[in-house]
Amino acid sequence: MEPFEILFAESTKIHGHICPGQVIGVRLAMLGLREIGIDDPKGNDRKKVYVFVELDRCATDAIQSVTGCSMGKRSLRFVDNGVMAATFVNLETGVAVRVTALEESREASKNYCPEILEKRKRQLEAYKIMPEEELYKVERVRVTIPEYNMPGGPMSRVQCEACGDWVQNKREINQEGRILCRGCGEGRYYQLVDNVD
Ligand SMILES: [Zn+2]
Ligand SMILES: [Zn+2]
Repeated sequence: MEPFEILFAESTKIHGHICPGQVIGVRLAMLGLREIGIDDPKGNDRKKVYVFVELDRCATDAIQSVTGCSMGKRSLRFVDNGVMAATFVNLETGVAVRVTALEESREASKNYCPEILEKRKRQLEAYKIMPEEELYKVERVRVTIPEYNMPGGPMSRVQCEACGDWVQNKREINQEGRILCRGCGEGRYYQLVDNVD
């Protein structure tokens, strides 16, 4: 695996700014990949890695950058739990770990780089040198990934009987025998605006 400094520079570029979250995310991803036996996530091992992220924040971009996993490749799945954690799965061996960034690390960062007075700057530098045990909790887990959530082309494609939208990968719902998209069956996240008036 490439060294931290290179991965950090890459992720900062993709993310758009330097922040403590980039350090946390890069080191979290390096740790996760190492624990599942992946050394070359964007090269030889690129088809073996699958990642779940549980938070949409700065570190999420770093995890994507380091692992090379993405939503478009269907190798990165967002589970909206609001927890700074990610689960790394080796699709070849089935080995998986969930890595959680410890809330206590904010406080513990005070023990490092005390000469830096500004909090964010101190955190940023401290997170680079703090031992992994102070930053993360690692749990060995087992994940069953349904076939329709695996990387690759769409497994299925059906048309909603109400609105006509095409629904891929088994996201349709069956309401008393009627095949519907989630918008029609469970409600929409948007409202149509009639702009023809
Ligand atoms: Zn950020
Ligand atoms: Zn529909």
